[in-house]
Amino acid sequence: MNKARPIILWFSGTLRLSDNPALSAAAATAKPILPVFVFDDESPGPWRLGGAQRWWLHHSLCALDQSLSDLGVSLLFKRGDTLSELSRLASDIEADGLFFQRRYEPWARGLEDRIHAALSAKLTVKRFGGHLLQDPERARTGGGKPYRVFTPYWKSVRDQEVGAPSPVPSNVRWYAHNERSEAIGDWRLLPTAPDWALEFSDRWQPGERGAQRALETFATEFVDRYASDRDHPGQPGTSTLSPHLAFGEISPRQVLAHIHAAADRSSSMRGPDSFVRQIYWREFSYHLLFHWPQIPLEPFRDEYKDFPWRTNNTALACWQRGRTGYPIVDAGMRQLWRTGWMHNRVRMICASFLVKHLMVPWQDGARWFWDTLLDADLANNSAGWQWVAGCGADAAPYFRIFNPITQGQKFDSKGHYVRRWIPELAALPDEVLHAPWQASDEVLASAKVRLGLDYPEPMVDHKVGRERALGALAQFKEGRSNPN
Ligand code: FAD
Repeated sequence: MNKARPIILWFSGTLRLSDNPALSAAAATAKPILPVFVFDDESPGPWRLGGAQRWWLHHSLCALDQSLSDLGVSLLFKRGDTLSELSRLASDIEADGLFFQRRYEPWARGLEDRIHAALSAKLTVKRFGGHLLQDPERARTGGGKPYRVFTPYWKSVRDQEVGAPSPVPSNVRWYAHNERSEAIGDWRLLPTAPDWALEFSDRWQPGERGAQRALETFATEFVDRYASDRDHPGQPGTSTLSPHLAFGEISPRQVLAHIHAAADRSSSMRGPDSFVRQIYWREFSYHLLFHWPQIPLEPFRDEYKDFPWRTNNTALACWQRGRTGYPIVDAGMRQLWRTGWMHNRVRMICASFLVKHLMVPWQDGARWFWDTLLDADLANNSAGWQWVAGCGADAAPYFRIFNPITQGQKFDSKGHYVRRWIPELAALPDEVLHAPWQASDEVLASAKVRLGLDYPEPMVDHKVGRERALGALAQFKEGRSNPN
């Protein structure tokens, strides 16, 4: 039945069929294709999927399997060491080729190199782009170096042709096989009791269709106002495409094509331009991770290596649970726990609070995000945390400390966001919602808020926390300029 030797289409970080260059290239060979996914929990080392993303992966794989079934083939599920599984499969079916879409995490680059070294003598091993608009090694400064600052990077890449997205190829020959497929239910990706992911299904539709739907909704309803609405966490104003992009359920090229088409119908380019710029922030994060692969754990700026962070598990736990006493911070941390996502503005405020007011190492916060974010992405998460902590490329300087009270008042002035996530404060008037300790006893009583009981007192006074962080910075700088 299968006379021609098949091509293994390995779904690595890309869980989609459209605009999938590896699939298109495999189809163009006219050889039969065997789609496979390998669940490998060991190769990523410390960066194995966090709890939230396991939930997403389960549902995204079910969706991909369904889409393939609609085309007449099922996805072969394997579990174990990727190289061993692919090698075994390749020799079992006498594969002619292994095609996949490349990834950029340091562990994944190492794995891809090992796969290439082990298999390329026996079959054609080909990897393709598609997770990004362009390969991160391509952008170079005039001096031939990688970029360290966003704006010049962006100016150098924004006008480069990215090509049109490709549809699912129609001429695919699938490979009929007798390989034993695992049941993904056995992988225990979903939480058992207590089911902390209970609300995820109401909010998200993992898979390629869900990604297309989110893009369509954003392009028709929100992109026009993106520039002004994107900073207000209490209203829907951003695309929420991040988990779909993280799992490769949609390509950035598809996103751009759709937004450009929407922009052609729009009266102003402000919203679309501002959104496209954010897509390039994602590209920039990957550019940084590619050239500085140590950034998930080490500060981009070497001089911050010895910064006197204060490891403090009690403070970290209060922050994680949304019990810092600062409503905008706590609302963000609770949104994260309940929905697996947090608004960008609030990510900055929460991260700043942890690393500045509490002086907890940014790596501890990044690790919590890694476990709880559905969109956890090694490039974006590392760059985001380092930006806030002041030790990253093009970062906000360390002395820039987000004020959680005024940030709340400015970006959640009507309190929709805080009231949604902290119902115990819902009856407080707007004037004190972001600083409940400033409310009079009468106001607190009529809102039925007992500070310290229903909702915590601030764990650190804003001014005290701010001064402490600035003092530590000044001392640190002084120590560096006078090491003796
Ligand atoms: P939109 O505003 O609709 O933007 C569209 C897309 O552009 C996003 O999906 C994302 O892919 C990209 N993007 C937007 N803002 C940024 C940014 N600042 N940096 C890089 N790419 C961006 N993003 C992640 O995808 N994964 C992470 O793990 C992650 N961790 C973060 C940690 C911190 C401390 C901070 C400050 C930011 C982090 N971000 C991360 C960036 C940003 O918060 C999210 O990408 C964004 O909130 C996702 O929501 P959205 O899809 O609605 O974004």
